[in-house]
Amino acid sequence: MRAVVFAGEGLVRVDDVPEPDLRGPGDAIVRVTTTAICGSDLHFFHGKAPIDPGEVLGHEVVGVVERIGEDVTSVRPGDRVVASFHVACGRCWFCLRGQTGLCDEDAILGAGPFGGGLAGAQAELVRIPAADVNLLQIPEAVDDERAIFVGDVLSTGVYAATLAGASPEDTVAVLGMGPVGFCTVQALLADGVATVHALDVDPARVRLADAAGAIAIDAGRTNPEMALARATEDRGADVVIDAVGAPAAYENALGIVRRGGRVVVVGIYAGEVVELQLGVYWARSVEVRFAGLCPVHAYWERAMELVADRRVDPLPLVSHRLSLEDASKGYELFDRREASKVLLIP
Ligand SMILES: [Zn+2]
Ligand SMILES: [Zn+2]
Repeated sequence: MRAVVFAGEGLVRVDDVPEPDLRGPGDAIVRVTTTAICGSDLHFFHGKAPIDPGEVLGHEVVGVVERIGEDVTSVRPGDRVVASFHVACGRCWFCLRGQTGLCDEDAILGAGPFGGGLAGAQAELVRIPAADVNLLQIPEAVDDERAIFVGDVLSTGVYAATLAGASPEDTVAVLGMGPVGFCTVQALLADGVATVHALDVDPARVRLADAAGAIAIDAGRTNPEMALARATEDRGADVVIDAVGAPAAYENALGIVRRGGRVVVVGIYAGEVVELQLGVYWARSVEVRFAGLCPVHAYWERAMELVADRRVDPLPLVSHRLSLEDASKGYELFDRREASKVLLIP
């Protein structure tokens, strides 16, 4: 079958690779109808996270179930499904409590040896372990292009909006209008939060948030702290969501939040270090919640419902639709920040 494989730093290739097989009774093989390139694929593309040349990349996928192991009961061959980007075991202490993002067996499709060594989804076929846990049926009302977001960024947005715990009259600021930030804004608005400020330095992303109903702020031209102070009689936002994952954004979030407010960190951090004055947190009584990996399985049914009745629509994020064979062009566009979301069609 054809698949997108890592071919060395800054290179991907579409190659012939062996078809995946069922390895356990809980596995399913899915014939991919749409897959996508995600920001986190770039870590592998740039060699910042280890993956061997020849390994299949990608973790965002919808398709049709082709074969199932004997223990699989929730899906059948022929079902349209979306896969969770994060493959959870469904049996460990954390999974049994709905905290699948913290699963003992922690694995991500196409994420190299430290991601569980699973082959990726930018391919004609993909093997999904624990299919009863990691596949969700797609209702007829939802097309592939919308459903693919349910397996990753939209569920993450719904999760972030839930962690925000905002009431309708609260003022919420979301920093970073990448795919997760954009989906977070939509989920907050769908939850009935009336005042959602959306900040980014990229005017195109700011326009996208504006069209979705947020109060969009071009942070390259307007000082975010001052804008939020003006909007809240100088108090600051009740809740600030860092959907960037950079120390400057984290520090910005603390500058924008009011005393007694909440900061939710959904942007991804790894080795970054910030110096923080504990007394500032203490005196200002600020609550900080780190989201960690989204427990997709706890949020994806709600995300699917929101898409099905069009209360959220991730489709404006899609900037390019390419054939799987043109994947390397897609990676280059994404890498140059000329694409917000690239869908690949096998
Ligand atoms: Zn992703
Ligand atoms: Zn688990």
